[in-house]
Amino acid sequence: MCPHQREIIVDAFRAAGMAIFGHTAAATNIESSKEFAKKLMVKYDIPTSCYQSFTDYKEALAFVSARPFPAVLKYDGLAAGKGVVIAADLAEADAALKDMLLDAHFGHGKVVVEDYLEGPEFSFMCFVNGSQVVPMPLSQDHKRAYDGDRGPNTGGMGAYTGLPFISEEDKAYAFQNILQKTADAMVSEGLPLSGVLYGGLMKTRDGIKVIEFNARFGDPETEVVLPLLESDIYEMFYAVATGAKLPTPVWSSERTLGIVLASKGYPGDYEKGFVIEGLDQVNCKVYHMGTKADEQGRILTAGGRVMIAVAKAPTLPEALEKANAEVDKIQCENLFHRRDIARKAFGARVIDGKVLSAEIKEDVRARVSEAAAQYGRVPCLAVILVGDNPASQSYVKGKIKACEVCGIESRLITLSAEVSREDLLAQIAALNADAAVDGILVQLPLPKHIDEDEVIDAIAIEKDVDGFHPLNVARLNLSRPCILPCTPKGIIRMLKSAGVKLSGAKAVVVGRSNIVGKPVAKLLLDENATVTIAHSRTRDLAAVTREADVLVAAVGRMGTITADMVKPGAVVIDVGVNRNPETGKLCGDVDYAGVSAVASAITPVPGGVGPMTIAMLMENTLECFINRNK
Ligand code: NDP
Repeated sequence: MCPHQREIIVDAFRAAGMAIFGHTAAATNIESSKEFAKKLMVKYDIPTSCYQSFTDYKEALAFVSARPFPAVLKYDGLAAGKGVVIAADLAEADAALKDMLLDAHFGHGKVVVEDYLEGPEFSFMCFVNGSQVVPMPLSQDHKRAYDGDRGPNTGGMGAYTGLPFISEEDKAYAFQNILQKTADAMVSEGLPLSGVLYGGLMKTRDGIKVIEFNARFGDPETEVVLPLLESDIYEMFYAVATGAKLPTPVWSSERTLGIVLASKGYPGDYEKGFVIEGLDQVNCKVYHMGTKADEQGRILTAGGRVMIAVAKAPTLPEALEKANAEVDKIQCENLFHRRDIARKAFGARVIDGKVLSAEIKEDVRARVSEAAAQYGRVPCLAVILVGDNPASQSYVKGKIKACEVCGIESRLITLSAEVSREDLLAQIAALNADAAVDGILVQLPLPKHIDEDEVIDAIAIEKDVDGFHPLNVARLNLSRPCILPCTPKGIIRMLKSAGVKLSGAKAVVVGRSNIVGKPVAKLLLDENATVTIAHSRTRDLAAVTREADVLVAAVGRMGTITADMVKPGAVVIDVGVNRNPETGKLCGDVDYAGVSAVASAITPVPGGVGPMTIAMLMENTLECFINRNK
């Protein structure tokens, strides 16, 4: 309901002596007149951005020079919209003021000076009756149309409760110094509030400040806030409407997260009338905002923002996962939605192995072409695949594809799972002797009847692109130059590229295999980290992992590392590659949704360590090629 309608209804009800929830026309000025709200805040010392208007150049300059920079200068006249300058210093402000007020560049008008505010915005709604103020849970809206806060501004594409960036102290401060103070100020002005006061607030470097007030429930915030109310809202409405003592509402401690489904094209032009299916499958609240039913009872789109699905869960990552899953059940060819509501607020930084490995492969490609020009041929990697293990087939496919990207020649040798030990060793001996082959990779694991160690030992040391040969391992342990094993090398590269400080950091590696756990521990030690290795016999694994600033999980068991095992702010590297038996999807050893709410940075699975292992294989192949040609 817009303020205009409410003015009429509330005043009319009051005049007739009837109870109604909502502010009087005069009190809604706090929303409808920015000038009124600003003056009120200045008069009662309620924290907000500074805002002052000038027609005189000298007065404006004196005011700006006494305020912090950057300053926002807005020409408030016919050129409104064009005449906005964000002045970084006094010289820039002076030039703009001269332009706007002395040279009257846009005609004669006034200049409004505002502080430049930066920080996350959030919404704080309260039930208010005169000086009685009852807070609701905080929420945050997402205004931009697309993921990553890109695209045009909208009426709101989603919202959530449980803001990780606002502490209890912040909330208490905002309640006392903003919401309560404003309610009291309105009483002092003879305009008591009697409904919802919505504070659009920002947490700036200089404290929490008011951006705007609304005299009503906010959308889409209300859709995520009210589902947390466990007591009867009627009691609250009735108490506000009758001027009785406000009850203390009971709120759930869970988190809610709402995703808006909007018509394609919104907030610009869009078409209506598309059938929406799957609503009966959805297992969360769905509020309709722009739909209509046709004669057959089908639900059709009938607006820009069409509906909002609101999921409830104990933590934000779980709420996001659930909301995304529920929204996926809604089918309509003309709807779109964001998938990252609250992601920025709770999310650990994702250390993206795909992006980094693509950069590394690009670099290898350039170096391969230089080396090829120098030595008259391109490097060649021989890959031996034994048997038909689907995971191994897929890894080998990825490696051959990477060779194509890097300009490295590849030779794929596929052998049956029944291949004899002798035949496999003979194949390796032939590749060792082949001068045109620079690297030999045997995809592990091998069938049980073949001794993996014997096969690895058989590869010529100068062609050991995996770095598993005992001589390479010995050199690594003695900190001598060697071909580093791909996965551990990739992990260190990721950590460094993400700017993680390793020197002096406490690292914990879970898993002690010769392929991942032990070599990564050695490389971390070389970076001056202190390292603890945990394994299947470690007693109280959680107590060990909770000490880690950098936690590497290389176990091969889904769900090994949960949120309660991770120190807040830790960097988590998930090496494990497992298949979730329920969903069939790939996952790591780390409970990604839970841990990413605690960690400061995390690698995803898939798309984390895996692509880096392949990129390092390409580097190692080039290194072997160069070493052999030297
Ligand atoms: P291994 O099976 O050789 O080693 C697993 C390690 O985990 C062992 O040291 C084992 O301890 C330890 N472990 C097992 N259960 C527990 C537990 N409950 N608590 C603590 N430690 C435990 O595996 P890998 O090192 O070869 O591989 C590990 C994972 O990494 C796998 O999922 C694999 O697929 C993946 N991987 C991923 C790569 C990539 O590029 N992303 C590359 C290589 C591997 P113990 O020694 O006591 O038995």
